[in-house]
Amino acid sequence: MQDAAAHAKFKPYTRQSIKQAPQWERLHRDQREAVDVVSRILPFRVNAYVLDHLIDWDRVPDDPIYRLTFPHRDMLPDNEYLDMHRMISGGAPEAQIDEFVRSIRMRMNPHPAGQMTHNVPTLDGVALRGLQHKYRETVLFFPGAGQTCHAYCTFCFRWPQFVGMEELKFDAKESQELCAYLRRHPEVTDVLVTGGDPMVMNARSLAEYLDPLLAPELAHVQSIRIGTKSVAYWPQRYVTDKDADDLLRLFERVVGAGRNLALMAHYSHPRELEQPVAQQAVRRIIATGATVRIQAPLIRHVNEDAACWSELWTTGVKLGATPYYMFVERDTGPSSYFKLPLVKAYQVFQQAYRSVSGLARTVRGPSMSAFPGKVMVDGIVELGGEKLLALQFLQARNPLWVRRPFYAKYDAQASWLDELRPAFGERFFFEADQPAAPSSLLQPIAIHPSRTSPGPATERPPC
Ligand code: SF4
Repeated sequence: MQDAAAHAKFKPYTRQSIKQAPQWERLHRDQREAVDVVSRILPFRVNAYVLDHLIDWDRVPDDPIYRLTFPHRDMLPDNEYLDMHRMISGGAPEAQIDEFVRSIRMRMNPHPAGQMTHNVPTLDGVALRGLQHKYRETVLFFPGAGQTCHAYCTFCFRWPQFVGMEELKFDAKESQELCAYLRRHPEVTDVLVTGGDPMVMNARSLAEYLDPLLAPELAHVQSIRIGTKSVAYWPQRYVTDKDADDLLRLFERVVGAGRNLALMAHYSHPRELEQPVAQQAVRRIIATGATVRIQAPLIRHVNEDAACWSELWTTGVKLGATPYYMFVERDTGPSSYFKLPLVKAYQVFQQAYRSVSGLARTVRGPSMSAFPGKVMVDGIVELGGEKLLALQFLQARNPLWVRRPFYAKYDAQASWLDELRPAFGERFFFEADQPAAPSSLLQPIAIHPSRTSPGPATERPPC
């Protein structure tokens, strides 16, 4: 079994091809129907490694990795599900289906936290659609070739990247604009290369994006982070893929250039670290001098159990990785299916945190990546006889807000920052001082002329 997983061939399945997977026969008729209906709206992709080695088919549909990767009927309200089903089975014209699909997607808050309205930076007055700059010291970069994943998570907050809504997509054809932007922003110390999953790129393509960042004039970029779930969905990327060694040499080159290289490894469940190939992947990455940081959202149906988190963090520490974040499920996509109340999230976090050693207590959370910043639920307290939620910013649009405690009225049902009410006064302290919250209607932003040019150049000029 160990060799079978390590030497598995990468074989993706989508809505069109999933019927060819041997496991398809094991699904009940209703489950198959739900996959077909819901995946018209939300992206669906798995691969043979996930099907053969991560999902426990005896536990389907309650298996956490099945819940994580396969669409379910409850992800849509009944009326939308039934209307969609009627259209498909009644042979409605494609244009009518597309219009209905689009209306549901727009209802699902496709770009939460002002990603498209407030985080896109400009260069000489032109919006850079492949970048986000929300926090002073960190820029997010979306390489065009990395805007897919080895499998898709059903809760994904980046789902608009995968459904063909071009006007809602972030992607950069090349790193020239990033480098030009960074040269003018010496305050930026960290670049997060993200997606999708940048690790779907081969080593050569990834190098074309990373090498320019190592130029001496960008020495202020001290840390290069790569956000990835490949470590869970396709760990062979670092072990047996034909360019796995080239990839590790690239990591060594980044580290050798004096930069901190951190893989922001998205693990949702300890099962993703059970396979020997998954463990070997972590060890091989760390041997290059890069670090592996474990992070994921807390998701109902998938990892709402404290024991699950303590096992994940403990296994990670044993392999040399660093527990980093437990996030709160974002208010986008089918969030009503996955979200948990903040009070419950805090309880799960606290119980898991208490049960692990100090080395695993590097983890922070539960944290909401909300419009004003990353807000951590820090505790449930009693002040003046009233039960309150203690909160603080771990990151913020305004750096002065960071680590400033504030309080909200206790609310056992609230699952996001905007559902909380201030404990004292009319408004939270940061509400007087923040840019206007984004309109629910997204305004498409100007596209840089270079985006209309042909695809990525094979040779990328240095920064
Ligand atoms: S791997 Fe990350 S970007 Fe890809 S679907 Fe999952 S959460 Fe979304």
